[in-house]
Formats: sequence, C-alpha cells, structure tokens
Amino acid sequence: MMVLPADFQFSQASLQDFVACPRRFQLRYLMGLRWPAVPAEPIEEHERRMRLGTEFHRLVQRYLLGVPEERITRCIRDPELQNWWLSFLSHDPVAHYGGDDSAAKVRSELSLVGRVAGYRLVAKYDVVIVVPRKQAVILDWKTSHRPPTVPWLRRRLQTRVYPYVLVQAGALLNGRVPVQPRQVEMVYWYPGFPDQTVRLPYSASQYALDDEYLGSQVEMIAACGEGDFALAEDEKSCKYCAYRSYCGRGDRAGNIDDADAELDFDLDPDDFDFDLEQIAEIEF
Ligand code: SF4
Repeated sequence: MMVLPADFQFSQASLQDFVACPRRFQLRYLMGLRWPAVPAEPIEEHERRMRLGTEFHRLVQRYLLGVPEERITRCIRDPELQNWWLSFLSHDPVAHYGGDDSAAKVRSELSLVGRVAGYRLVAKYDVVIVVPRKQAVILDWKTSHRPPTVPWLRRRLQTRVYPYVLVQAGALLNGRVPVQPRQVEMVYWYPGFPDQTVRLPYSASQYALDDEYLGSQVEMIAACGEGDFALAEDEKSCKYCAYRSYCGRGDRAGNIDDADAELDFDLDPDDFDFDLEQIAEIEF
C-alpha cells in the first residue's frame, strides 16, 4: 500500500534524504521522527557550527531588510562569525551578482512552490536577485568549514531543485513573464572561502533533465509501500546520520572534523532549518 500522502510537499532536503537513504526519508518525513540523535560529535562543536550558520543567514537577512551595517556589526560576539560578516561586507556578493542593477529585485528568505509529478515542490532561497527579463541569480550561503568542491555541489539536489522551481514559479519577480532557464544562475557563496565562489549556470536542457530526474524520484517515492524504504547501501552515510539507532548501524556519531566532502553530510542550515509549516508561499 502506498504511504505518501497526496498533499505531501517535497523540498531539496527531503529529496536529498531519499537519494542518500530511502529509510531516512521514511523515518524523517513519513514517520515524523525529527531529531533522534546528534549527527556528529563533539556535540558542542556540532551545535556551535549549526548556530553560527543560522546566525550568519539571519545577519544577512537583516542587512538586506535595511538594518544598518554598524548596528549588526556591534551585535556580533563570535570571532568566526565576525570574520564571515566582514568577508560578506567587503565582497558584497549581492551587489556583485546583479543586486546593484537599478531594475533588480532582491528577495531574501524567499519561498517558492513549484510542481513535480503532481506534488508540490518547495524551495526556500537565501537570496534571489532578478533583473526582470534579463537575469535571475540564486545566491546560497554555505557556512561549512571546508572549501567548496564543484562535483559535490553539482550532485546536491539543491543545485537541481532551486533553479527548477525558480523557472516554474518566478514570473512575478520577472516582470510577470516566465523565467527562462538560460536567465538563471545558481551561485554558492562561502563566507569562509570568499574567493572560491561556485557559479553554476542553468539551461533549457538542464531543466528538461531535472524535470525527468526529479519526476522519476518523486514517482519512485509515491510507489513505495511501507516496507519498501531500503537502508543506505553505503554505510558511510550512517556514520553522520541521526537515525543510527533505528537501523542498528552503530551508536556513536562520527567526528565532525573527519566528515569528508564526498559524504552526504553538511552543516548547512538549509538542510535542517526547514519548517514547511512556516512557508509564506508564492505558488506556481
Ligand atoms: S542510519 Fe543509515 S540506514 Fe539508517 S536512516 Fe541513517 S543513513 Fe539510512
């Protein structure tokens, strides 16, 4: 018997979980088990990094809402966060990627809703900069402690879902005409590595590939019965997974500094701080 509710909302985070481990998708999104254990140790360091990532996102959001720079700077206590913030101010990625165009619409913490295989697909963007009928840049802050690797970012579902949903649902920002895939660029910006920005242009052919791929993943999930959500084949994923005890895959979390870039593990708030209930949406 199928277990996916007809009104289920997909996101890059839930699809990423399914691709990494179908069982994790089931435990987290269908059974509603949110935080059974810490995914990495030491716990304090894991929590500190998560908190810093979330705070950085908030600082930038406040800045883009018009809170004066000095006021924000005065409130920062953590030296690492301070460095990230100063790096943001000196590189000014929002202006650099189109925000200084007089016609640009800059939106932070924007949620858009598209559709895939009959289901809603939600994307929550750090920043979207649209110069109507010209360009549409998705800026994403990555606060992990390792430099970006392009192959890893290309494999992330976020890289596929964010441009895909913007093409489907971005018309209101684009002078009320549909966003063309060739207008779109996904930019990953690391405050800890500001000179290693990753730019991934989008295209009509990539949109078609994403449509097929995302549709096939959603159809696969929709066809699953309760006993069909398999455990991850590669047990490396389990080391940093909060559901280890449910699967008999060890009771110790992996060390945070050993997580290599190839693992499906990231300390980015985008992957965790995602509450579908709170979305003020613009729907496709
Ligand atoms: S512990 Fe391993 S098998 Fe279990 S949900 Fe996590 S990744 Fe999947």
